[in-house]
Amino acid sequence: MIAKALLNPPKRQDTMNLHMSRIRKVALYAVSLLGVGVAVGGMAFGQTVETCKTTDPFCFQPQLTSTTDRLDAVSQPRIATPAWLSAAGGSTQSGGREVTYVAATKGNVSANFNEFKTQVNETLNSPEGWSRLGVRFVRVESGGQFTVWLSEASQVPSFSPSGCDAIVSCTVGNNVIINETRWLNGSDAWNGAGGSLRNYRHMVVNHETGHWLGHGHEYCSGAGQPASVMQQQTINMQGCAPNPWPLAHELYAPKLGIRS
Ligand SMILES: [Zn+2]
Repeated sequence: MIAKALLNPPKRQDTMNLHMSRIRKVALYAVSLLGVGVAVGGMAFGQTVETCKTTDPFCFQPQLTSTTDRLDAVSQPRIATPAWLSAAGGSTQSGGREVTYVAATKGNVSANFNEFKTQVNETLNSPEGWSRLGVRFVRVESGGQFTVWLSEASQVPSFSPSGCDAIVSCTVGNNVIINETRWLNGSDAWNGAGGSLRNYRHMVVNHETGHWLGHGHEYCSGAGQPASVMQQQTINMQGCAPNPWPLAHELYAPKLGIRS
């Protein structure tokens, strides 16, 4: 047959018939596969559900049934809002999750408290600051999630005799304590590196609030590099350039369940 076919190749019409036959076979095969697919899909998933692409954290995941609840601990979130966005105390109003704070003074404070409140708010909500976490900081008169204190220097240790001193600022629990002397003067290390007083204030508010958000300290990554905001720039620049704002790698907040 093969030899005959080679010696007597099919005419054009035969060739077309051969092609049509193959097309019909392929089509029938595809239809049968589709039928099997639909049947298997119906058995495996029941009702049609919208599943999520792994790159889309806001997509609704199908609700798990009680028989699979034990998978909760290791499965992806079942809800549209990521856990970090819906953690206790937050909301999803325009501008991002809302975090409330109170501003207060401690001891005999001579610095302008209204200016302090204004500048703290500017810092917290600056597009260069922690607001990049998707957080909007709202000052309230009472009941805030944390308190930013403008404290007379000698009163700073009253928040924690073992953890705070009168020289620098400090954060203890939900108390973000700005040392009035530093607020008014900056520090030798910062000033010596050419940092301005306004940027020192940005830095110290961001640094101490960073502690409240769950950050520890960081160190200079290299001479001339911008310091991490969680570096102790008040004490020693370690060769880094003054930087009042959180760096990209610092944009996480364990306190709020916000991961990097
Ligand atoms: Zn610190």
